[in-house]
Amino acid sequence: MNFPRKVIIRGYTHSINYVATNREVATDLDSNELIGQVSYDDNEHHIRINANQKVIGIFDTLIHEIFHSLMQRNPLLRASIKPEVGEEAFVDTLSCELAYLLVSNGWVELPENVPVTEKRINEV
Ligand SMILES: [Zn+2]
Repeated sequence: MNFPRKVIIRGYTHSINYVATNREVATDLDSNELIGQVSYDDNEHHIRINANQKVIGIFDTLIHEIFHSLMQRNPLLRASIKPEVGEEAFVDTLSCELAYLLVSNGWVELPENVPVTEKRINEV
């Protein structure tokens, strides 16, 4: 699989940047917890993913952030989330299930299941 550098979600182009640390993921937050984030600036949308994790983790995080953006853009999807579950748990469960489905059915082939760095992802 070639990790994409951009994705168009409901007509909005999102750049995708693979970074080396959690600190580089959430540049607008004082957080070292996030492995992925989607941000919506006025004219630019960005997805940042920590690439220093297993390839399946990068793939899962990418799908996770795409689902967050879909939630942002689609009121019906947002309204379908039960308050007691919340968006994060809903998105996390759905992205894990879809990533596993795509990989286990061979629809997406990941090169290997070892940690990768930003440099290595450029080589994939
Ligand atoms: Zn999330």
